[in-house]
Order: sequence, then C-alpha cells, then structure tokens
Amino acid sequence: MNWQIERSGDKVLLFIYGGNGERGVGMKCNYCEWHCELGDDNYGVCRMYHEENGAIKERFPHKWCTYAISRVESVPFYHAYPGSRSMVIGTTGCNMACRYCVNAFVAKEEPAALQDKMYAFAPEALVRMAVKRGCHNIIFNVNEPAVSLPSLVEVSKVARVAGIPMGCLTNAYTTEEATELLASIFSFVNVSLKGLANDFCREYLGIPDINPVLRNIDKLASLTHVEVTTPVIQSVNDHEMDQIAIFLADVDRQIPWHVFRLLPEYKMKEALYPNIEAINAALEKSRELLPYIYFHNFVGSDWVNTLCPRCGTAVIERFSLGCGGDRLDRYNCRDKACPDCGYEIKLYGDRVEWNAQGGQL
Ligand code: SF4
Repeated sequence: MNWQIERSGDKVLLFIYGGNGERGVGMKCNYCEWHCELGDDNYGVCRMYHEENGAIKERFPHKWCTYAISRVESVPFYHAYPGSRSMVIGTTGCNMACRYCVNAFVAKEEPAALQDKMYAFAPEALVRMAVKRGCHNIIFNVNEPAVSLPSLVEVSKVARVAGIPMGCLTNAYTTEEATELLASIFSFVNVSLKGLANDFCREYLGIPDINPVLRNIDKLASLTHVEVTTPVIQSVNDHEMDQIAIFLADVDRQIPWHVFRLLPEYKMKEALYPNIEAINAALEKSRELLPYIYFHNFVGSDWVNTLCPRCGTAVIERFSLGCGGDRLDRYNCRDKACPDCGYEIKLYGDRVEWNAQGGQL
C-alpha cells in the first residue's frame, strides 16, 4: 500500500493506491467501506469529499471545529502517555449515522453549513499552537478521521518534525489501505466498537455490518497502540458485553477496553441511562479475559484504576467525574512495571507531567 499527496490550488489531494497499484479514483472513494461514487456535486455519505479532475478532493481542507486542551485520560486513553496534556481537534462530517451521537451538532450537520464557524489553520499553525499551549500530543477526537484524511496526513508530517505524537478516536469503518494510513499518522488509536450484531449496526449505526471494523481492530493492533471503547446503551447493546470481551481477548488480551456509560443524545434523547449495577456484574466475568477493563462516564466508578494483572496492586490511580472529566491521580508504576511484583504493564509512551512542556495556557 502506498499513498501520495498532491496540491491543487487550495485543495489537498490524497491518493491511496490499492494492492494493484491503481489510484483509488475512477471515481470511487477508497477511504472507507462505503466506497462512494464521487462527482462534482456528489460528496459521498460523509459529505466531505468530491471528485475533481479524476481525484478525490477534500471540500474543506484544514478547517477545524475545535483546538481545545484536554487530559489524555478524558479522551479516553488510559495506557498512552499517562498524565499528558493533549490538544484535541476535529472537523465536520462522519461516515456513520449513529442514532445516539453526542457530537451530532458537528458530525451530522451538513458540513457546508458549518464552515463559517470553523477555524482555518494550516498544519504549521496548528502544531505551533499545540507547542505554545504546552501540549505533549494532538488527538483527533470529535468526528471520524477518515473524512479528513488528506489534512491529517499533512498535520502529521509537521507534528512529527516538532516531536508531537498524534492519536485519534475512530469508528474504524475504513478500507484496509486507509486503515494502514491511519496507523502511519496516529501512534495511538482508540477504536469505537459499538456492537456486534448486524441488525444493531443497521438500525443504530447506519452501516450494513460490523466485519470491516473487526478486521481493522485486528490490523490496527498489529501496527500501532490500540485501546477500544464500547458505548453501552441500555437494552440495546448491553447484552453483547461478553461477546465483545471474547473478541478483544482473541485479538490481544492486553488491549485496554473502555466500557463507556452512554447518555444517549441526538435521536435517542428519551433512552434509558445504562444500569450501573448490571454492567458492573457483567464486567466482573470479562475481567478474567481482559485484565485492563474500565467502566466510566459516571461519578464514583471503581473501574478507572489500572490494576496489576498478576497481583492486583493499583498501578495507576485515576479519578472520573463522568462526561469526559477523567484525570490521573497517582502513577505508581516503576519502569512501566508493577512496583510490588514487577509485572510489566502495557503502556505506550512514558508518564508525562501535566505541565511538562511548560507552554502558555
Ligand atoms: S470517506 Fe466519505 S466519501 Fe469516502 S467512501 Fe467514506 S463516506 Fe464515502
């Protein structure tokens, strides 16, 4: 797999070549599994690309909906650069149609209608701001990175030179070649595995089946640091927790799995909130399969600490206020290992002090 960036005026073109060495044009987009037919005015399911002179073009390159500061734990990443300050960014559009999306005001609106509210920053400016604000890393976490791939490739090149690692959240409904490209841009990735059943995928996510996502979790886990998040929806996917744990354990028992108590938004505002006691009980069983299970997005969770898989010592202690308000409390590892029994804890990157970069807030 190979890719190439070209520029045309203010547009950035990204070509991903398939296994046969041909460009992903013709004109079907090969960034995600929809394989949309693009045209002058055909913008695909995500509404973020079109075709111009035989190439896939971004409609709104380098337009960002946010450039906020967050704790890496709040994104969430619990096993990558613990304690670090992240600059979180996003664009518009998405290739899924989740009925409960908490970011629908950005992801599901017509992207063209939002552009006058967006920030226009070239990659150099974006990375410079991350440095200036003391951020250790940049994380794309609002919508789906596949809908803004060319811009993200360009940001990653500048970030690499500046020594800023990049991470992302993704739904992983990407083609195999785009998945490889994501792994080359982002050194730490959190995949949202929302459910397994195809009728759930059709009714709640707007995609025909989950198999490309499962394939890509496996692929990403072989290429980069991966954590997985499952938003639980009461009476919709809560019965699938055991099966998801079995799937993840089969990929890699060391994968950190975030079970996220979803408070549905968008088209599911009336849905029940997930029952904490019932999910607690279900997860106790899964802990035998996956040592790094977390259950959060509510105040007072007992499931936000990292426990040593061998002796049970709390090797990383955190605090969760819910709604993305997670933080590192105490880092007890010694050389990324349990201080009591020496068991090696799966961690990507070192612990980073919140103010390590010393930037201006
Ligand atoms: S990235 Fe967008 S245009 Fe390309 S295939 Fe996916 S939904 Fe369609």
